Amino acid sequence: MEEKKYTGSCLCGGIRYEIHGEIGDILECHCQRCRKANGTAFATNAPVKKTDFKITHGENLLKKFESTPTTMRCFCSECGSPIISIKEETPDTYRLRIGTLDSKLEHKPSSHIFVAYKAEWDTIYDDLPQYAERP
Ligand SMILES: [Zn+2]
Ligand SMILES: [Zn+2]
Repeated sequence: MEEKKYTGSCLCGGIRYEIHGEIGDILECHCQRCRKANGTAFATNAPVKKTDFKITHGENLLKKFESTPTTMRCFCSECGSPIISIKEETPDTYRLRIGTLDSKLEHKPSSHIFVAYKAEWDTIYDDLPQYAERP
């Protein structure tokens, strides 16, 4: 079986990464921290295995910010692109910001999470399942 490989990069191109493996279930997270970290209505994140994820260029540009005592958000210090977040309780899984992918993804988002915290101006127009917090 052919190994899955994806590539991605930040806006300035200083950080480039590869994923040698699967990209998991895509979630649209409407929590306020994701909204602030991205400046958008929601963040679109999917889990990847830590061991599958490799920064191939610009690791020195990756800045880490502890947005809660258990969550580390990693972004490009040059252009601000959010790349991954790492949760203390699941250190072997990175949550990839899939907007930074350069490869095509075959699958679509599966659900909306933290909808209880979504912005009042944001309207969800699709039929995906919505969860007040986590499913
Ligand atoms: Zn950058
Ligand atoms: Zn979130």
